[in-house]
Amino acid sequence: MTTPTPYDVIILGAGAAGLMCAATAGQRGRRVLLLDHADEPGKKILISGGGRCNFTNIDTAPDRYLSANPHFAKSALGRYTAADFIALVEAHGIAWHEKTLGQLFCDGSARQIVNLLLDECDKGQVTIGLGREIRDVGYADNQFRLTVGNREERSAALVIATGGPSIPKMGATSFAYDLGRRFGLKIVEPRPALVPLTLGGDETLFRSLSGVAANVVARAGKAAFREAALFTHRGLSGPAILQVSSYWRHGEPVAIDFLPDRAPGWLIEAKRARPRASLTAALATALPARLAETLADRLALPGELGAATDKRLDEAARKLADWHFHPNGTEGFAKAEVTAGGISTESLSSRTLEARQVPGLYAIGEAVDVTGWLGGYNFQWAWASGWAAGQVV
Ligand SMILES: Cc1cc2nc3c(=O)[nH]c(=O)nc-3n(C[C@H](O)[C@H](O)[C@H](O)COP(=O)(O)OP(=O)(O)OC[C@H]3O[C@@H](n4cnc5c(N)ncnc54)[C@H](O)[C@@H]3O)c2cc1C
Repeated sequence: MTTPTPYDVIILGAGAAGLMCAATAGQRGRRVLLLDHADEPGKKILISGGGRCNFTNIDTAPDRYLSANPHFAKSALGRYTAADFIALVEAHGIAWHEKTLGQLFCDGSARQIVNLLLDECDKGQVTIGLGREIRDVGYADNQFRLTVGNREERSAALVIATGGPSIPKMGATSFAYDLGRRFGLKIVEPRPALVPLTLGGDETLFRSLSGVAANVVARAGKAAFREAALFTHRGLSGPAILQVSSYWRHGEPVAIDFLPDRAPGWLIEAKRARPRASLTAALATALPARLAETLADRLALPGELGAATDKRLDEAARKLADWHFHPNGTEGFAKAEVTAGGISTESLSSRTLEARQVPGLYAIGEAVDVTGWLGGYNFQWAWASGWAAGQVV
C-alpha cells in the first residue's frame, strides 16, 4: 500500500456541500482531496429543480429549517447568504430567474451550477477522486487514515459530506451516519422528508382523483403551507404536501383547507344566490370538477343547496376548510427529496461544523440534522455549511 503525502483536508462526498467546502478550503491555500464513490460529481444537483436547479431561496431564514436545535443553522446561514451564492452565480455569467415564492432557478440548466462549483474547485487546486470506494476510516497520530480503493490517504481534517439516504438509486447512502457513529457522534433518527404521503382504508377512494391538483392550505402539526396539492395513485403529493410531510408524524392527520379564499359562510351565501344549484356545482366554481364531485359525494348533502339547512351548509363549509386525511405512511427514501434527521447538531459546533469531541472531524450538508423547506433551502444549507467548514479546515 502506498503512503503519499498527507492532505490538509479530505472531504467525503462531491455533492453540493462537499464541492462548496472543497472550493472554499482550496482557495484558502489548503491541500484538499475530494472523494466520491459516484463516477460524476453533483449528481443530485444535476437532477434538481426539474433539471434547472432551484439553487437558493431569497427568503432563506433559519425558521425555514427543521432540526432538533432550531438555532443551529443560524450561524452558517447568517454568514453565507442567498445573496452570496447569487453573486457567485452572476460572477459565472449564469442567467437565473425567480419562479415563485423566492425560488431561484437557472434559465439554462443545472449543469451550469455543477460547472461553477468545479471551476471554483479548480481555482483552489482541489484534487477530485471519483469512483473511489472508501473502505475504512481510522484516526491515529493526529491524522485521519483512509483506505480508499487500494490506497491509503491521510489528512489532518476530515469532512463528512456524503448526504442522506434519500434516492438510493442515485448512489445515496447512510455512510455519514455509520461514520459519525464510529467517531461517537449522535444521530437523530433519519426519516424521509419532502416526500409524497400514502392513503389507505376508506381514503383510497381519493386515489381515483390521480392527477387532479388544487391550491390549498395543508397543515401538519403547527406547520401550514399554501401551495398546490396533487392527488396521486398512491395518495397525496404536490408542493403543499411535500412541505407538510417534513413535519408529519405517523398517526397524525394532515388537514387540508380546499377553499382558503372562501369566507366561512360562503355556502350559505351560495344557497341564497343559487338555491337550485347542487353542492358539486357550487364547489366546481373554485375546484376542479372531479374533486368537486368527490368531495360533494363524501359530504352527502341533499341534491340542491336550497334543500339543505344553514346548519348543514355551515358544517360542510367547515369540513371543506379542515378536511382531515389520515396518511398510512410516506413513499419512503426512494421518493424523498431529502432526509430529515442525521448527525446531531449537539455533536457539532454551529460556527465551524466541527465535531465537539473529535477535533479535525466535520459534518456538513444534508448529513447533518438540518432540513430545509422545499424551494432552494436545502442547497442554501449545503452552500452555507460547506462554506463555514471550508473557512476553518
Ligand atoms: C430529485 C431531487 C431534486 C432536488 N431539488 C432540489 C432543489 O431544486 N433545490 C434544493 O435546494 N434542493 C433540492 N434537492 C435536495 C438537494 O439535492 C440536497 O439537499 C443536497 O444535494 C444536499 O447536498 P449534500 O452535498 O449534503 O449531499 P448530496 O448532494 O447528496 O451529495 C452527497 C455525495 O456523497 C456521495 N456519497 C454518498 N455515499 C457515499 C459513500 N459511501 N462513499 C463516497 N461517496 C458517497 C454521493 O455520491 C454524493 O455525490 C433535491 C433532491 C432530489 C433528490
